[in-house]
Amino acid sequence: MTQTRRQFIATASAIAGTVTLLPYVVRAAGHGGDVFEASGGNITVHPVNHASVVLETPVGTIYIDPVGDASAYGGFPAPDLILVTHEHGDHYKADTLAAIAGENTVLITNPAVFAMLPDDLKAKASEIANGGSSAFNGVSIEAIPAYNTTEDRLNFHPKGRDNGYVLGFDGLRVYVSGDTEDIPEMRALTGVDVAFVCMNLPFTMDINQAASAVAEFKPKYVYPYHYRGRDGGTQDPEAFAKLVGDAVEVKLGNWYG
Ligand code: ZN
Ligand code: ZN
Repeated sequence: MTQTRRQFIATASAIAGTVTLLPYVVRAAGHGGDVFEASGGNITVHPVNHASVVLETPVGTIYIDPVGDASAYGGFPAPDLILVTHEHGDHYKADTLAAIAGENTVLITNPAVFAMLPDDLKAKASEIANGGSSAFNGVSIEAIPAYNTTEDRLNFHPKGRDNGYVLGFDGLRVYVSGDTEDIPEMRALTGVDVAFVCMNLPFTMDINQAASAVAEFKPKYVYPYHYRGRDGGTQDPEAFAKLVGDAVEVKLGNWYG
């Protein structure tokens, strides 16, 4: 399958007058994920629910903001690394972490979540704050700020507390926004291949803010996620895709299936 796609792309590129192979291709995996081929090895993206993502990577399985019943993760390898962006219940749940973390699982969280971790989880964890960085098995992890900027939303995600993350795999940079609006730090990101960008009201932002930011930092692929809200605050990922247009490929995951 991979070989076939590579040949197809090589052929198509030749017809288009270039011999350059795309650095990676994306295709659907058998169980609902998308595979991104990178020089360091395939990375498979599994949208799990709302803000919860599982990445199968050459350096291990990475869970991002896993919450909910542990059975939702039964089909995936156990986590080698768990990243938590912030303390809200749709991103952080100690019971879920305790149920899914294995003997050798490593947690990386923002400082506020680190402070509230139960002792057994804290023993596996480290914290990084906005602007800080860490590494896991050779993958760089940068903590990107995540906060509200609109006057009547400031209390949801105050500046300086919560994280987004950029993961630097060999040949693929992945950005996970956490809960934020279209902040300058997002707009200034460079070299992002795959981005997960939140959108819902009143807690984060609307599709216009999200699409505007995406048009500026131009990831190659963007997953709208975290797009259902309360009280009519749901944002339409297909309307978001129309706003984004052709400059960035929008990936619509099955987040609420
Ligand atoms: Zn939040
Ligand atoms: Zn949230």
